[in-house]
Amino acid sequence: MPNNLNTQDQALSSKIIFGPVNSRRFGKSLGIDLSPSKKQCNFDCLYCELKPAKTVDSYSDVLSVENIITALKNAFAKHQDIDVITLTANGEPTLYPYLDELIDEIDRLKGDAKTLILSNGATIDKAEVQKALLKLDTVKLSLDCANAQCLKKLDRASKSIDIENIKRGMLAFKEIYKGALIVEVLFVKNINDDAQNISGLNEYLLKLQPSRIDIGSIDRPPAYDVKGLNYDALLKLSKQFDTRLPIYIVSRKITKIKAENYSDDEILATLANRPLADEDIAILFDKESQKRVKELLNRGKLKKIENEGIFFYATP
Ligand code: SF4
Repeated sequence: MPNNLNTQDQALSSKIIFGPVNSRRFGKSLGIDLSPSKKQCNFDCLYCELKPAKTVDSYSDVLSVENIITALKNAFAKHQDIDVITLTANGEPTLYPYLDELIDEIDRLKGDAKTLILSNGATIDKAEVQKALLKLDTVKLSLDCANAQCLKKLDRASKSIDIENIKRGMLAFKEIYKGALIVEVLFVKNINDDAQNISGLNEYLLKLQPSRIDIGSIDRPPAYDVKGLNYDALLKLSKQFDTRLPIYIVSRKITKIKAENYSDDEILATLANRPLADEDIAILFDKESQKRVKELLNRGKLKKIENEGIFFYATP
């Protein structure tokens, strides 16, 4: 960090910027926390890794764009070859009131780095949020619930938020957005993993046609006393979605599944039904079958598709 910064600036910079972290998917990623002082969110999700907090519709503690850009410049001076800049927050990043202006400033200094936001999606119906997010390379929006009851129970959304507005907003944004729109669904046991919610999500996601759908569960200790789903349950649940949807299972921590042996025909039939990510192949197929997958790929019987950094095997 340049030594012309005073101690206070340095302390603030280190709260705003985190990383870089190396991820297989995104490369070297630098994070920007738009709410480093406290949780400021329009949701209070049961599974949040931050402590429970009253929902807010706007930030009361607001960083200046100048402070954020100074912190980013310092990070760039320290770390070269950043592949992606991720906008996030202790809370919801789209509630940051100067988001549009901030993204313009980031674009001015980011060089070849890509930009990404991780949002809970609750403000995507707002014109000013859409305008800002249009400038990003990747937008990742959460959608855990297809109906108002679930949104209230699981995401404990602020009263001002309406699930139908979120769904309309996402569809409108998808119409005009040129980048990669990823939808993330987080499942909590006995809260949003019921057939009714899954069928509602399925129907909606078929309309939305996002670039990818990431399904996952609780990875870190949650704010409230709720339980997550293991890989096995997520895999089962993923099969309830239409096979045309590009579903990627994110949580693979705990599994009782034993890798099995598949013949060439069984591999082709399985992957014709639903493309599988290379990480799923590694769990579900034994070593011999994994070798067969490679051979089928070399013989042109299978293809490998990249979907926003994730590799899927599918039939041509
Ligand atoms: S949207 Fe994110 S930050 Fe906000 S309550 Fe939910 S998990 Fe926590």
